[in-house]
Amino acid sequence: MAQNGIHHVTAIAGPARRNLDFYTRVLGLRLVKKTVNFDDPSTYHFYYGDEAGRPGTILTFFPWEHATRGQLGVGETQETTFRIPEGSVGYWTHRLIEQGVPHEAPQKRFGETALAFKDPNGMRLALVAVSGVENEPAWSDGNVPVEHAIRGFHSVSLLFREAAPTGAILSDVFGFAEIGREGSVVRYRAGDTAVGGVVDLREVGGFPRGRSGAGSVHHIAFRAADDEAEFAMMRKLAENHGIRTTEQKDRKYFRSVYFREPGGVLFEIATDDPGFAVDEPVATLGQALKLPPQYEPRRKDIEAVLPKVA
Ligand code: ZN
Repeated sequence: MAQNGIHHVTAIAGPARRNLDFYTRVLGLRLVKKTVNFDDPSTYHFYYGDEAGRPGTILTFFPWEHATRGQLGVGETQETTFRIPEGSVGYWTHRLIEQGVPHEAPQKRFGETALAFKDPNGMRLALVAVSGVENEPAWSDGNVPVEHAIRGFHSVSLLFREAAPTGAILSDVFGFAEIGREGSVVRYRAGDTAVGGVVDLREVGGFPRGRSGAGSVHHIAFRAADDEAEFAMMRKLAENHGIRTTEQKDRKYFRSVYFREPGGVLFEIATDDPGFAVDEPVATLGQALKLPPQYEPRRKDIEAVLPKVA
């Protein structure tokens, strides 16, 4: 059965080196692709994920050296959360203290223990303890022992004046269904998708709109198995919701369309194929700067303007 759910989350960061350090050394994710923003090749595009960068594990950043910090508001992503094994909450609490990462005390959400913290740009993250995930494969860079390592996304939470219009898109187009409510949060789950299968819609009424910047999520991408599935989703958006997406863009590792959902969040639909091993072997993912063919002739100039990270 085709898997739905989150394909990747893309956010804005400050300095590239600090971003790399935090996500690979502190959180122990794998850098699975080092490339540039295809719309602005003077900026890096970093992709972090599990060993292969499977859909549902991929957090990506545009690091801008001088980005000012964003401010959270309605029509934005409030928090991005990862799955960890149930027995790893103590390990991670100690790790965050040891690494000087600002965090909150563990709290219960929908019956699961969540450990909320912030990255160096103030981006809101959390680790959610999920039973059974210790048996799933995970990447270990040596800093985080494999038994405690992150197992892809748990969820994202989005802030809205009202949740229903966005909920309708999740249900009708992306294969989610409402599974529960807790306070102002409506939880949606994508069938039996384990990795990245949860989206929380938080209703906050008249809360002000946000301002995008470092620490802000730029967009959320949802999975389509292939072009056929992506085009079917585009048809549903147009016919049932009056929403037109952009034309399909080739992002080399997936093919994407974008649209602004009714609550104001930028959504993307991204194909599962071809994945990150299309231009380098899995064993050496993320080591070399990869450029799409249109920028390869300008490699020397591009490398000269990108900040040094290693
Ligand atoms: Zn994207």
